[in-house]
Amino acid sequence: MVIEIIKGLATTFKHVFQPRITIEYPEKTRPVRPRFHGRHVLKRYENGLEKCIGCSLCAAACPADAIFVEASENTDAVRYSPGERYASVYEINMLRCIFCGYCEDACPTEAIVLEHDYELSYYDRESAIYVKDRLLVPSADEEDITPMEVEQGEFDRAIPDMEDPS
Ligand code: SF4
Ligand code: SF4
Repeated sequence: MVIEIIKGLATTFKHVFQPRITIEYPEKTRPVRPRFHGRHVLKRYENGLEKCIGCSLCAAACPADAIFVEASENTDAVRYSPGERYASVYEINMLRCIFCGYCEDACPTEAIVLEHDYELSYYDRESAIYVKDRLLVPSADEEDITPMEVEQGEFDRAIPDMEDPS
């Protein structure tokens, strides 16, 4: 009995002089691993056009049925994304999402990306639905906002040429 107590105290004593590993969250945060899957964002091209073309492949790939996409037609006078269509509605239900990343893998334009934000908490179910406005990243240039008017035929291709298809 006494030996066990001494062993226990020795273990405690051994750890007294080791550096503390407790992080005072939320005042301090620890960087996540590069491949960490956090909250999704919808990306834009450098010119401000949205990468999402409303194809719904992400929704089809999602095992949790967490994504809802509704597509509408682009015109050169009112253009959101390259190609024929854009996502007029894009929603992710974070209560369903299991952060598997299948949506990211399925996306042909690399529009949906799981980034490093893990601070997701809600007081009601409605707040757990991330709509397009919450997901879409801001444009690099404030003047490049969608929809935009572009020259006729300038953005006919929905999927850009890949730099390194391999
Ligand atoms: S990360 Fe997985 S579960 Fe979450 S929306 Fe994407 S495919 Fe669905
Ligand atoms: S995020 Fe990608 S896969 Fe999903 S609708 Fe948009 S373009 Fe298609």
